[in-house]
Amino acid sequence: MSGSNKRGIKCPYCGFIGKPRDYTYMYEAVLYVADQEVLKEERERPVLLICPRCNRGFFLESPYQKLLERLYNRAD
Ligand SMILES: [Zn+2]
Repeated sequence: MSGSNKRGIKCPYCGFIGKPRDYTYMYEAVLYVADQEVLKEERERPVLLICPRCNRGFFLESPYQKLLERLYNRAD
């Protein structure tokens, strides 16, 4: 099953459905610091979303991930 739908991104924990900008984003780089195991850097960095309601984090599915990367790379 999907954790997302066309109307928004649904939190798999509490069921909150919000627009992409309702969520807080963390990138994999944070995880590198927390874990000394070998974690090679990858070009594709999974985006961890933090739910604004329950504050739990979850990873996006790839279709949404690519969409968000476009949104967040607007600085160029
Ligand atoms: Zn939630």
